[in-house]
Amino acid sequence: VTSLPPALVELIAALRRLPSVGPRSAERLALHLVQTDQVHVRALADALLRASTEVRLCERCGALTQQQPCALCTDPRRDHSILCVVERPVDILSIEKSGGYRGGYHVLGGRISPTNGVGPEDLRVAELEQRLVGGAVSEVVVALPTDVEGDATAFYLAKRLGARGVKLTRLAHGLPAGSSLDFADDLTLSRAIEGRRPLS
Ligand SMILES: [Zn+2]
Repeated sequence: VTSLPPALVELIAALRRLPSVGPRSAERLALHLVQTDQVHVRALADALLRASTEVRLCERCGALTQQQPCALCTDPRRDHSILCVVERPVDILSIEKSGGYRGGYHVLGGRISPTNGVGPEDLRVAELEQRLVGGAVSEVVVALPTDVEGDATAFYLAKRLGARGVKLTRLAHGLPAGSSLDFADDLTLSRAIEGRRPLS
């Protein structure tokens, strides 16, 4: 490793900070990049900077967007009387891909986890509550993983939002915990949305 130029060592270290990039992959990527035509490297660098600068969370639903509010929130073909509550923006992609849902979304930004010091005030719960004011939303579908933290979060939401007179439901099976898109089976997911049950 000591024989590598410092700039290359630095690049490897930077790549290693990315999720799911191990030491071997980081080295392979770095070696590839330094031997690639600079036009392509510049395009990659530009894309990274542009996305990092321009992609923000939707102020309404928490999805990733370049416009406020996002395209999901302003799509007139969607049923905005129903909101699907997910943990992360990436979960929206899973649900959209399943094709079983045409309502609005609300990203919590995490799950309640006393062991990790995550409480309701750390999540976008107040924002969700705010969206229920006025009565335009009639159903909230909780689409969180069915594990201890997902259950605790669902239970908390039921307790806090129950008094708002909105129908609360939960997916027949939760989203797989810590899943990437590959883990969510479209058919299973769309069935889970269809078979959602009252949450109490
Ligand atoms: Zn939005």
